[in-house]
Amino acid sequence: MSDSNLTDSQQRGVLALFRRIAPVANELGALFADRGHELALVGGSVRDVFLGRIGNDLDLTTDAHPARVLEIVRDWADSVWTIGIDFGTVGVRKGGWVLEITTYRSESYDPKSRKPEVVYGDNLEDDLARRDFAVNAMAVRLPGHEFVDPHGGLGDLSAKVLRTPGPPERSFDDDPLRMLRAARFVSQLGFTVEQATLAALTDMAERIEIVSAERIQGELDKLICGARPREGFTLLVDSGLAAHVLPELPKLRLEIDEHHRHKDVYEHTLIVLEQAIALEENGPDRVLRWAALLHDIGKPKTRRHESAGRVSFHHHEVVGAQMTKKRLVELKFPKDVVSDVSRLVELHLRFHGYGTGEWTDSAVRRYVRDAGHLLDRLHKLTRADCTTRNKRKAQALSRTYDNLEQRIARLADEEELAKIRPELDGNEIQQVLGVAPGPVVGKAYKFLLEMRLDKGMIGKDAATEALRVWAEENLS
Ligand code: ATP
Ligand code: MG
Repeated sequence: MSDSNLTDSQQRGVLALFRRIAPVANELGALFADRGHELALVGGSVRDVFLGRIGNDLDLTTDAHPARVLEIVRDWADSVWTIGIDFGTVGVRKGGWVLEITTYRSESYDPKSRKPEVVYGDNLEDDLARRDFAVNAMAVRLPGHEFVDPHGGLGDLSAKVLRTPGPPERSFDDDPLRMLRAARFVSQLGFTVEQATLAALTDMAERIEIVSAERIQGELDKLICGARPREGFTLLVDSGLAAHVLPELPKLRLEIDEHHRHKDVYEHTLIVLEQAIALEENGPDRVLRWAALLHDIGKPKTRRHESAGRVSFHHHEVVGAQMTKKRLVELKFPKDVVSDVSRLVELHLRFHGYGTGEWTDSAVRRYVRDAGHLLDRLHKLTRADCTTRNKRKAQALSRTYDNLEQRIARLADEEELAKIRPELDGNEIQQVLGVAPGPVVGKAYKFLLEMRLDKGMIGKDAATEALRVWAEENLS
């Protein structure tokens, strides 16, 4: 496979990736060809090969209908699943690969219905024409490796733009979810949206209302977990899409924060999201990211104008937690995500009662207990929620939080120590020494506890032996 639009090093990269995919892709391609069917690598897989970021998932497309696909792959696949079969997709696992084989489609939306109507097509070109963006509408036929790019996807890929293959109005009318997918790819790939596509998206934003909550949730979640969520959310808000799928976000634009330092709570929120992301240790943490995005959504409802021009937002964390729960439930997020994110929103201000370190041990314990398994994320959210431009103030806050974390660690250590017991209990001591309950048992217990603290665990046998020696030296 080669194409003159690619630089030499791009071509080498593409060839190397294709060599990795080829064994499985060619084998399957030959299997389909032998039975008189077409098969092509398509969509995200082709795009990602050119971007040098292929995972273990491959999207494939064929003229064979799902029942026929099942027949063809049955003896070849390690396992097969059919949850997507109503939409024309058969899933296959082979070795380390996950393959999604989708029958050529030309689906469109009934303007009033929420469900895409699935109509099978009979050729690759029509299938590519109904895909969301030109960069996702390239294909490589198998097993021959003929590159098919009728909509200039490769050019868009080097220009990093998202453009619908046909007229954008028609495309977004057929499936309004594509507008949201544009924002998702802006975040994931760092692309921009081509002008006519952007204009249609802005005009038609309201059409997103007919799309089901599950599909919207899937794209929003991919958006927030992408590399550039600020750009994705900015597109959502500026185009008017956010007003329909996440109305709490654009509403933050009107709010001035309590220190009058930031343009508005909206900008503060995007910075907090970015700062939270910078604190992640093991890749995207959706719970932390959603909590960062939603932590202040209670502010518009709780804003009060106080004397001397000050503004307050009393209990915005409580109101915000309720709003968070409502929004995430409406978007059909899993239960644990809903409860974790809303709990973090509720707790995000707790630290600010800490002042300069005057919390009692009991207050620190309560903080830890209330955060539970979310403690580590609460540390990150609280640290990220400081966007003051006053360096000294920011440093002071950060030091105060360091101090809180140290106290938490110290208390935890102390509590661990408090839990330490000798390796023999009172009954065992009485048995070993042949004595009845009394002061001797207490003394022996103290000796064993000291030894346990000095030497750690040495085992019951060694402890018994040491107790005998101690008794000989101290009791006779
Ligand atoms: P990734 O899998 O990395 O999230 P992807 O581009 O593969 O990205 P999928 O949702 O897996 O995205 O879809 C696979 C392909 O199917 C897309 O590349 C695109 O060609 C096509 N596609 C998916 N959803 C739509 C849609 N709503 N309208 C048109 N085409 C779509
Ligand atoms: Mg995919």
